[in-house]
Amino acid sequence: MTVTCVNETFRPGGTVKSVTTRYRCNACGNLTRFDVVETTSVRSFHHFTVGGELSIEEPEVIAHSVESVTCRWCGHDRGVETVFGVE
Ligand SMILES: [Zn+2]
Repeated sequence: MTVTCVNETFRPGGTVKSVTTRYRCNACGNLTRFDVVETTSVRSFHHFTVGGELSIEEPEVIAHSVESVTCRWCGHDRGVETVFGVE
């Protein structure tokens, strides 16, 4: 089955380009490497052709939550703080 993602801004498994939230590990100063467990709920319009090909349109994130953030360098999860507004 062919899956076509129409909306250019939504790329499952891709790179998030405009990040406004970053993390910082207070234990070791790490700013770049984290294990992030997150849940994203996306509502989208699944448009099937008669032949069975699927086109996913109008994806909209309706819920997003970060379960945990763990520093890859030192393994701390309680020393990690969220940094807002950094580009
Ligand atoms: Zn760390």
